[in-house]
Amino acid sequence: MSYFSSDFTLGILGGGQLGKMLLYETRKWDIRTRVMDPSGKAPSRLACNEFLQGDLMDYDTVVAFGTDVDLLTIEIENVNALALQELERRGVKVFPGAKTLQVIQNKARQKLFYRDNEIPTAPFSRFGYTSEIRDSIDNGGLSFPFVWKSAQFGYDGQGVKIVRKPDDLEGLPNVECVAESFVPFKNELAVIVARNETGETRTYPVVEMEFHPEANQVEYVLCPARIPEEVAHRAREVALKVSESLGHVGLLAVELFQTEQDEILVNEVAPRPHNSGHYSIEGSFTNQFEQHLRAILGLPLGKTDRRYQL
Ligand code: ADP
Repeated sequence: MSYFSSDFTLGILGGGQLGKMLLYETRKWDIRTRVMDPSGKAPSRLACNEFLQGDLMDYDTVVAFGTDVDLLTIEIENVNALALQELERRGVKVFPGAKTLQVIQNKARQKLFYRDNEIPTAPFSRFGYTSEIRDSIDNGGLSFPFVWKSAQFGYDGQGVKIVRKPDDLEGLPNVECVAESFVPFKNELAVIVARNETGETRTYPVVEMEFHPEANQVEYVLCPARIPEEVAHRAREVALKVSESLGHVGLLAVELFQTEQDEILVNEVAPRPHNSGHYSIEGSFTNQFEQHLRAILGLPLGKTDRRYQL
């Protein structure tokens, strides 16, 4: 299969900044790209071969978009997963697959997946509605502090609240959610795993993520994380286990907590390039965007080491 200077078309759902950075690589390689985003001003618009404006959550729109591409990927996880399932049924290659997205799009399902696959994660309870949490507190099923997380559509900390007392539940939307044990962590870590269809894997070095206290977005990424080699090794092993358990193809960014006892717990994952991996653009032999393309195209994976040693 020739991907380059051919009619091979890569479809990308989402045209945000991650998509734009992915297109820097496809352009180096001369791969045809077709991008869809709800906004006509999406950052990817200028760098792709074809741009379509469309709703990523609309079943028919996503099926129509994916029908005549050779390979479909995403740069945002909130896309219609049933449409991806239908495209897979029709023989379109979709990486990450519909099953992975269905697990990841819902935090309750994601937590159950970790539990079922013996992946270490903070203890949690699931609730159909936030209002049910009060009963659980009254019955002694939950104790403070815990972390409320909306099951769907949360990002950059918007669907997350630390609940220290009953009043903290006031004003939260009455939606499907999880209540997770509060983890007094030493560090928030991340590991990016690349995996291709043949099961070849590579992990990037463990990084530390420091979040802005109000904006809740990553402000500093420190590579390599200032942690003992043994802890870093375990973090990479846990991240690999998540990727393998999902049968994931592409990049998977695994966000982890390092507890005070140096346990490694999975917080959540993102099935795509990640803001904890932007340093790799200048800092790594293979940047995360090239690596994602290598993984989904079935090319040999590139070296993940840092180019500059301290
Ligand atoms: P989002 O999907 O919005 O990024 P996260 O689940 O990553 O949400 O949570 C946002 C932040 O909240 C995390 O980066 C972490 O600082 C804090 N947090 C999340 N879960 C816990 C927990 N169980 N214990 C302590 N802090 C947590």
